[in-house]
Amino acid sequence: MKGKKISLKWRIFAAFSAILFIVLALLWVCQTVFLNSFYKQVRVYHAQSAAQQVADHLSDEELGYTVAELANRHDVNIRVLNNQFSTICEAFNHERNAFFSNIPDSELYFFSEEAEANDGTYSEFFQGLSKGNSSGNGKQDKQIISYIIAKAVADNEGGNTTVIVYADITPVDSVITTLRVILIVVTVITVLLVLLTALLLSAGLSKPIKQLSEQAKILATGDYQVEFHASSLKEIDELAQSLNYAKTQLGKIDTLQKELIANISHDLRTPLTLISGYAEVMRDIPGEVTDENLQVIIDESNRLSDLVNDVLDVSRFNAEGGQIQLQPLDLVACIEEIIPRYNKLVENRHYTICFENNADPTALVSADRTRILQVLYNLVNNAVTYTGEDKTVHITLEKSDGAYTVHIMDSGEGIEEDKLPYIWDRYYKVDKNHRRAQMGSGLGLSIVKQILDAHGATYGVNSALGKGSDFWFCLPAIEES
Ligand code: ADP
Repeated sequence: MKGKKISLKWRIFAAFSAILFIVLALLWVCQTVFLNSFYKQVRVYHAQSAAQQVADHLSDEELGYTVAELANRHDVNIRVLNNQFSTICEAFNHERNAFFSNIPDSELYFFSEEAEANDGTYSEFFQGLSKGNSSGNGKQDKQIISYIIAKAVADNEGGNTTVIVYADITPVDSVITTLRVILIVVTVITVLLVLLTALLLSAGLSKPIKQLSEQAKILATGDYQVEFHASSLKEIDELAQSLNYAKTQLGKIDTLQKELIANISHDLRTPLTLISGYAEVMRDIPGEVTDENLQVIIDESNRLSDLVNDVLDVSRFNAEGGQIQLQPLDLVACIEEIIPRYNKLVENRHYTICFENNADPTALVSADRTRILQVLYNLVNNAVTYTGEDKTVHITLEKSDGAYTVHIMDSGEGIEEDKLPYIWDRYYKVDKNHRRAQMGSGLGLSIVKQILDAHGATYGVNSALGKGSDFWFCLPAIEES
C-alpha cells in the first residue's frame, strides 16, 4: 500500500500542535468550567477545618488568639457563642463580611439549634451575605454564595458553646480576571515556544537525514568517495556510520569485481587463444596432431571450466541463501574420495598427495557432504597449484578435544603475513601478475570460507614465506553411541 507520505518535519509539527492544543484546552476548561467548583471546595474545606480547630481549642486560655489566627489563615469569619448566644470571641477577616457581627440573635439561635440537632454540626450554602437577609448592597449580595458552618460543643453548664464559621465561596472578580490574563499570556507564550521548538527540532532532525539521503543518492551512482557526515544525534550518527561502512564494503566489492573482470577476461583469453591456436595448427599441419598438442587443448579447456565452475559455485551458494544440509559424514571417506581425482597429476606430473590419518578410522562429523567435498577439493587444488619443487601435498587428520581437524599442507612459497587476512576475500589474488601455473579465479577460498562459516566450523591458515602453507578446518566429532 502506498499512502501519501508525510515529512518528518510536519509530523513533529503536528504532534507538538496536538499536545499544545490538549494542554491549552485543559487549562481553559479548568479556568472557565471548574474554577468555581474548585474554589468552592477549597473554601468549604477551610471553613470546616477552622470550625473544627476552634471547637478543639474552646477550653484554651488563648482562644481569642487562636480564633484570630485561624480566621486570618483561612480567610474566614469566626464567632464563638456561649449558651446564652453571647459572643465569647470573634474574628472578622473578610472585608465584605463586616455584616457578620450584625446577624440577628434569631439566626444565631437557629444555627445553634440545628447544630445540636444534627450531631453537633450544621452547615448551609446560601446566596447573599446573610441567611435569608440580603441586606445592604442587594445587587452585589445576589452574586455571592456563602457558606456557614456551626459546631455545637457541650459546655460544663449543660448547654452548648457554638462555633460559627462563615466563608464566602464565590471567587472575587479581580481574581478571575487576573487568572484569565495570566492564562492568555501563558497561552501566547506556550504557543510561540512550542511552535519555535517544533520548528527547530524538526529542522534539526530532518536536515541531517535529508543530507544523508542526498549522499546515498550520490553513492547509488557509483561514487564511492562520498562521505556520510557524523551527526550529534546518536541514531543519525549510527546511520551515517552504517552507510559509511556500506560504502567502504561496496567500494571494495566494486574494486574486486573490476579486478575480477580484468582477471577473468585475461584468464579466459589465454586458454581460448591457446585452444584456437593449437587447433588451427593441427588443422593446417597434419604432422602437428600430436598427443602433446591435444593435451594442451584438454588442459586449457579444463582450466576454462574450472574458472566457470568457481563463478557458478559462488552465485549458486548465494542464491540458495548459504543453506546447508547437515548429515553424519565421515571425513576419512571424503578425503579418500578426493585423492583419486588427482591420479592423473600423480601419474603424469609426478605429484605426491599423501594422507595421514592420526585420528579414528571413521571420523564422523555433522556436515553437508557436497559442500565439504567442495572445501577439500578447493584446498587440495590450491595446495597442488602452489606447492613447491617437491610437488608434494600432505593431508592429515587429527583429533583433539572432541573435534576433527583436517590440515592440507604444501611446501610452496607460502603467503606473506600482511596478505593473510585478505586471501579469504572474494576475488582476492595474492599474485596479480598471473603466472600461468597459478591461474585461478580468486574465488576458491571465499567459497571455502562461506561453506565453513555456514557450518560454524573453525578454520585458518598457517603460512610462512618460503616454507609453505597449512590450511586447516575443524569440525566437532559426533560421538558414536
Ligand atoms: P585462486 O583461485 O586465485 O587460487 P583462492 O581464493 O583459492 O583463489 O586463493 C586466493 C589467493 O590466496 C590465491 O590467489 C593465492 O595467492 C593465495 N593462496 C591460496 N592458497 C594458497 C597456497 N596453498 N599457497 C600459497 N598461496 C595460496
